[in-house]
Amino acid sequence: MVTSGHQTLDAQAFQRLQERARFFLDRLCWRRQYIQTFETRPELEYECLLPQFNGVREATFDERLFEAWQSGRTGVPYIDAAMRCLHQTGWINMRLRATVVSFATMNFWLPITRVAQFLATEFLDYEPAVHHVIHQIVAGTTNFDGLMVYDPIKQGRDHDPDGLFIRRWVPELSGLHGPQVHDPSTTAGQHSQAAKGLGFAPYPQVIVDCRLTAKVARRRVHAIKHGLPDPGFAGAEVTEVEQQLRLI
Ligand SMILES: Cc1cc2nc3c(=O)[nH]c(=O)nc-3n(C[C@H](O)[C@H](O)[C@H](O)COP(=O)(O)OP(=O)(O)OC[C@H]3O[C@@H](n4cnc5c(N)ncnc54)[C@H](O)[C@@H]3O)c2cc1C
Repeated sequence: MVTSGHQTLDAQAFQRLQERARFFLDRLCWRRQYIQTFETRPELEYECLLPQFNGVREATFDERLFEAWQSGRTGVPYIDAAMRCLHQTGWINMRLRATVVSFATMNFWLPITRVAQFLATEFLDYEPAVHHVIHQIVAGTTNFDGLMVYDPIKQGRDHDPDGLFIRRWVPELSGLHGPQVHDPSTTAGQHSQAAKGLGFAPYPQVIVDCRLTAKVARRRVHAIKHGLPDPGFAGAEVTEVEQQLRLI
């Protein structure tokens, strides 16, 4: 038995407490590290840590994609639920933050500064240093090894298996049951009675193929990071994505 303050904890409970304390301390250390980085490089709010990325995403900026992402109408339920929840509450957890930023900067290839500035106006706990440095890590514009492009469909299935979070924030889908909300081929056009009553339009068709655009984004980030020409979209990929974009 371990006495901590007014509590007596068994060894297991004390070990859990220690793990949580270490987890919390780790995060405070990250926070400190990002603040030190930003104090020496405040231009990271507007410029990429690796300069070869400056202007790359801006060159193909599509206002329609930005509008769909920020208003929670991308056709990807987990992304739309997160964006609408954030807009209403001012807070989403770390995993959701990383997932919506990965989707915006990889699948939609949106400029980091536009994404970060919008989220800065939404986050109740906006901390410039943490915010702008992490955006660059998620968007792959730093020399950190390993690039994590989040699969929003898989993230939804893993972290909202029964679709409770999605149905809470995307009323158009409230007529669907359990994991059905994770399948864009099922969700497109859904328009529950509740949503009609609230004045929502039918739920949109997914705007881009998440797997295809993730693959292209990984290839582009890898090339640009290593000083190679930006491969952009190849042949058939262009047509497929353009066809989808025409549907917005
Ligand atoms: C794209 C993106 C943007 C983010 N923007 C911000 C922001 O503007 N302000 C902000 O405080 N955090 C930001 N974070 C980090 C993290 O998501 C939040 O700190 C955390 O979700 C807040 O939840 P909490 O208060 O329960 O933190 P806890 O998990 O309890 O952590 C405690 C404190 O540690 C710090 N912290 C936690 N996680 C991190 C992290 N990954 N990196 C650095 N510090 C961390 C924060 O100050 C937090 O308040 C961002 C993460 C991502 C992926």
